[in-house]
Amino acid sequence: MNRKRQLTEDEKQEVLIRHGRVCFVDGAPIPKDETIEFHHIRPFSKAGTTSLDNEAPVCRVHHRRIGTMSLQEFRDKLELESFFEDGEPKYLDDLIRHKKGSCGKRLKYEVQDNKIVLYFDDTKQGFPLYECPTTGWKYFYATLPVEFIGNDKDLQPRALRVNSLWNLYQHFQINTQLAPSICRISDDGILLLFDGQHKAAAQIWSGRSIIECKTYILPDTRELKETNLEAHGKFRQMSFYSHELMKKYADLFGEDWSEYLDTEGEKSEAGFFNFLITSREKTRAQARNEISLAMYNDIVDNPNNKLSAYLSEKNRTRKQPLTFARLKKTILKNMLLDPPVDEEFESDTDFRKDERRNLVRLMSIIAEEGLEGKWNPERNDSLHRKTERIFNAGSVRAWTALLKDTINQHLRHYTDDDRAHFFYRRIPDSEFKYFREFVKKLFAHKLWDEPDPTGELMARLSRDDATTAKTLFEEKGLTVLWLLGST
Ligand SMILES: [Zn+2]
Repeated sequence: MNRKRQLTEDEKQEVLIRHGRVCFVDGAPIPKDETIEFHHIRPFSKAGTTSLDNEAPVCRVHHRRIGTMSLQEFRDKLELESFFEDGEPKYLDDLIRHKKGSCGKRLKYEVQDNKIVLYFDDTKQGFPLYECPTTGWKYFYATLPVEFIGNDKDLQPRALRVNSLWNLYQHFQINTQLAPSICRISDDGILLLFDGQHKAAAQIWSGRSIIECKTYILPDTRELKETNLEAHGKFRQMSFYSHELMKKYADLFGEDWSEYLDTEGEKSEAGFFNFLITSREKTRAQARNEISLAMYNDIVDNPNNKLSAYLSEKNRTRKQPLTFARLKKTILKNMLLDPPVDEEFESDTDFRKDERRNLVRLMSIIAEEGLEGKWNPERNDSLHRKTERIFNAGSVRAWTALLKDTINQHLRHYTDDDRAHFFYRRIPDSEFKYFREFVKKLFAHKLWDEPDPTGELMARLSRDDATTAKTLFEEKGLTVLWLLGST
């Protein structure tokens, strides 16, 4: 990629002769008393040259707002904003009309055996015709002039979304379009595009006058409608949204998430992570935190998670032993695999769903064995005071690590990678009875009942650091070996 370089005075004069003393962005003359600035028209990566062909004059006001965009991108962006400005829903038809003056022109055609001949204004062109072995529908592939394309409101009733459109526009500045848009054509030559309208719109917006299409001839509209819904519902968006975590993403990330789903290619946590960085200008740490938070919320909001009832944020009726902030730092941070993972969402190798289920189960066991029928600030009896000790800041930190080590040991996770993928795997139900035994034993340790006349034990258990409570555990014999002992 070439870096921006300074133009010499002679070169500037040359560019001015070509373009005139006007701003490339809106064509307005640049006043005599204002300095003329210069900028590249297309991204350097694409133009690939230091040629003057890629330079144009720009006024100071526009140059200041251009950011990392090229002149062409900036001009297209401003035009797009004004196209959507009135707030009315906009469809592909509106966009084609805006760019080309008209749309939905009839396309005359003739079917001859295994061929279709298309009659454009003064030319005709033949394309091979294919037949779907399942439905018998005939179709062909062709790049078609934009003015022959109309929007299929019947099969694709949604309006264009400005952010998705802009995102795809930018995507196509550096990437190729992998899959064509899908159309159908009626016997009187009405060509309607019903799938891939944002893709088509983004290409048209960036100046293309032909669109790659796969076009079906006269298929049964009702069946086509079902096929289309199926494709979009079951196999695409819906499959991503079917998982609770995906719904959480949709809630938390809103537009970012739906735009990410509109980009091409398979979808994964890593893909979304990169999208947040490249398209949303997040830092790696921010992107990671945001994805972690979505996972954490998903686990805490799970109705089967019995520990959630003991969070002060979830239950304000009385003093609670835990806060979301504490859970984040302890159980959630330590027992979930750090994002982002590469696996395609909901594929056979994506174990987030299993991980979530495993952790919800373990957290419920912790609630059942540690808190239910015990935590009771009003009664404040010895049972309650014991749970207070167990759920102290330092205690929770130390036993989270201890429990994780014990379970890793029990499941024979010997490598670092295995340990990191702790619950990110399928774990047979039968193992959870062992996990329950570990939790039971952990909470039955004598440390929690030991007299504490000086308050020293409580002080050490409340220190919210990585070592104080851990050292105390070791002194008192509360270790992995002890937990694994007689179970
Ligand atoms: Zn300007």
